[in-house]
Amino acid sequence: MVKHIEPGKTIGIIGGGQLGRMMAIAAKQMGYRIAVLDPTPDSPTGQLADVEIVAAYHDIEAAQRLLEVSDVITYEFESIDVGVCEYLVENGYVPQGSELIRISQDRAFEKKAITDSGCNVVAYDLIHNIEDLKRASEHIGFPCVLKTRRGGYDGKGQFIIREKSDLMNAVDLIDHGPCILERFLPFEKELSVIVNRSVNGEMVSFPVSENIHVDHILLQSIVPARIVPLIAEKAKQMAEQLAESMELVGTLGVEMFLTDDGEIYINEVAPRPHNSGHYTLDACVTNQFEQHIRAITGMTLANPDQHSAVVMMNVLGEHLDAVKMSIPNVPNAKLHLYGKQDAKPKRKMGHVNFIGENTKGIIQQIKDIGIWRQ
Ligand code: ADP
Ligand code: MG
Repeated sequence: MVKHIEPGKTIGIIGGGQLGRMMAIAAKQMGYRIAVLDPTPDSPTGQLADVEIVAAYHDIEAAQRLLEVSDVITYEFESIDVGVCEYLVENGYVPQGSELIRISQDRAFEKKAITDSGCNVVAYDLIHNIEDLKRASEHIGFPCVLKTRRGGYDGKGQFIIREKSDLMNAVDLIDHGPCILERFLPFEKELSVIVNRSVNGEMVSFPVSENIHVDHILLQSIVPARIVPLIAEKAKQMAEQLAESMELVGTLGVEMFLTDDGEIYINEVAPRPHNSGHYTLDACVTNQFEQHIRAITGMTLANPDQHSAVVMMNVLGEHLDAVKMSIPNVPNAKLHLYGKQDAKPKRKMGHVNFIGENTKGIIQQIKDIGIWRQ
């Protein structure tokens, strides 16, 4: 059932982190009201919400309260309780449904959905115990990477196995629950594409981002990506094929590996706005958060074109003091901080979009600023 949710109505967001906060900012600009469900009071989204529900994600009564105050419900992360999500789908209006949540919560379901769409994934196998691991490592080869099927993010729940003698060190991870073993791909670049598909079936995607991770955490996105147009076209086409096959409504962040022979493998997907799409906030006609809100409220999707070269730098806990001191004095640097109190190392506290004429000059500028040492 396609509904048009007019400005002035209330959008309920499950999850109160930075993605919810930036969705809320985009939605409020268009005149919507915001309700949020998060276990922590004064969360990044809670600070901006009209209605703040502080409760655990599996709390069905809290979900019911969210449902009562919301005209449409969305989510800012995929690790929400599938049971609660299904309850909301049945009793409220959740145009994104619960299927993509179910799939993206589990790396095994995710790999299968990607393969079913006709896109490539790196060789992998399902692992339940050390015997599985030994057997799988023989045909996958070394190095390989063991990942927990559920609950991993920013490199958490991963273990790189460089050689046979490392196998026993991976036992701890298997004790946490089912895993997958993947070939470790010596990729040339990591790319991502953010695709939006509205309740009306209309689909658009943003320009391809080139992403640099340090310690498995995204540090930098460079857009335009430093790739030939043919590869950019192929990456976009694959992301859209995947979104179509998954019957996406809302936003899909598609992470990819590009090899030096021009092959693209899908690494993982996220059914929500994505960190590698934060560059759109200052470099595109429409940003990924506005596009997400448009997709779920039944508006026409807006122009995703890029108008400026951009390099996005994540602000982790260890960067925060230096960023607060020097970035306000840099005229082409757009500062985004998420209102989080505790600046722990590696915690995503904000990001900075550096805008310019070309990425080469911006990359040099960031090096000269010296906050982000790689
Ligand atoms: P997360 O959920 O933590 O983002 P990812 O699977 O995206 O998990 O892994 C995080 C990062 O680790 C990737 O962006 C990439 O840099 C590296 N990585 C993960 N899997 C592989 C692989 N099979 N080969 C090479 N690098 C990998
Ligand atoms: Mg990832």
